[in-house]
Amino acid sequence: MSAISKIDLWQVLDSRGMPTVAARVSIGEKSANAIAPSGASTGAHEALFLRDNKESYAGNSVRESIANFTEDVLPQLIGIDANDFAELDEKLRHHDPSQTFSKYGGHIPVAITLAAWLASASTKNAEPFSVISEHLHSTPALPLPMVNIFSGGAHAGGAIDLQDILAVPVHANSIEEAMEWVWLVREATKSLLSKSGHDQSLVADEGGVTARLQSDEQALQFVTDAIAKAGLSGKVAIALDIAATQSFHGDHYQIHQAGDVKNLSSEQFVTRWSKWLDIYPIISVEDGAAEDDSDGWQQQSSLCDRIQIIGDDRYATQNDRLQNGIASKEANTILIKPNQAGTLHSALTALSTAKGANWGTVVSARSGDTEESWLVDLAVGSNAGQIKVGSTHRSERSAKWNRLLELSHFATAPYIGKAALAHIKNLNL
Ligand code: PEP
Ligand code: MG
Repeated sequence: MSAISKIDLWQVLDSRGMPTVAARVSIGEKSANAIAPSGASTGAHEALFLRDNKESYAGNSVRESIANFTEDVLPQLIGIDANDFAELDEKLRHHDPSQTFSKYGGHIPVAITLAAWLASASTKNAEPFSVISEHLHSTPALPLPMVNIFSGGAHAGGAIDLQDILAVPVHANSIEEAMEWVWLVREATKSLLSKSGHDQSLVADEGGVTARLQSDEQALQFVTDAIAKAGLSGKVAIALDIAATQSFHGDHYQIHQAGDVKNLSSEQFVTRWSKWLDIYPIISVEDGAAEDDSDGWQQQSSLCDRIQIIGDDRYATQNDRLQNGIASKEANTILIKPNQAGTLHSALTALSTAKGANWGTVVSARSGDTEESWLVDLAVGSNAGQIKVGSTHRSERSAKWNRLLELSHFATAPYIGKAALAHIKNLNL
């Protein structure tokens, strides 16, 4: 029993300079901190990040939600066993029963439950990933990285519509080789942009390269050419985060092409990106339809044998939404973001459900993230298979890659590599 003896909450800043909450959970003399990340392309079904809407930080402060939570809920958490993730989850939900934590916000429970896990690891003198693997009875493995190269959408002032064009080093044999390959692709993308007269000094929210281009297709061509320029064709593939919820306007999608705005039906939208699969080396597509556009999701289901179809906003790391997706066979992979679920326990529940259904799991950071690296321990300990933390640049991103490189250096767990994509039957690698 590792009874929680004290919890401290205070306001800090995330990688976009936005206020967020830090939690310290103490178990006797031992303690650990965790900070809640936050998204920009947030979905309607995820746990809320409640801001105070008062003068402080132009409405963005979280001090009031911290004060309310500290008064109403915090004392009830003292004495709970920090190893009992489920009990902590239950207690938190008892005080804020809606799925989205609408009373106090999900930012506080996620920070507390993560800090409780890290504090419990500290009491055991254990690495955080091993506490997760013990909890889930899983075998730790270093995940295949999915690394942002070119950013658009809500992460880059709408430079293009696509939110992320990512590099997946499918044929790398180690995490060291994987990171070098994606680094080379990012450098080659910058160089090609520069040669064609684009300012390549811009860096987006997740550290990716960005430029205001004519179309999504132009950006896809740049990254495809960059993979070739780096000598990595056939070794590095492309993943997309379309983040389609951001382009959806009630009953149609809006895209931008050469300065024009075009309206597309759900069918036209999915058909448009499906055609890219024959032109560019794309092996994975995230949020190819908006979160509640079930017709769009159904249309993608026919591609599940061929590529990875990931639900992010669609499932919002919520187990019941995921179960619906599994039943309808509309996708084959879930993005796991702990702060979408609101607690560590709920995020692990969704992850276990996905694995039980032979779905892929991609553990993901947020566009507003922090210097912490617990996400890597979560991915390694749960044997999630894949991880997505943004680009190689910006220290909130490199903090995660560096933890992965540390675990690799000390040979803590084997690198999973392309076996992480085994859930896709006819993947063309
Ligand atoms: C994403 O959409 O996968 C993402 C990481 O962005 P955000 O954190 O803005 O939701
Ligand atoms: Mg996404």
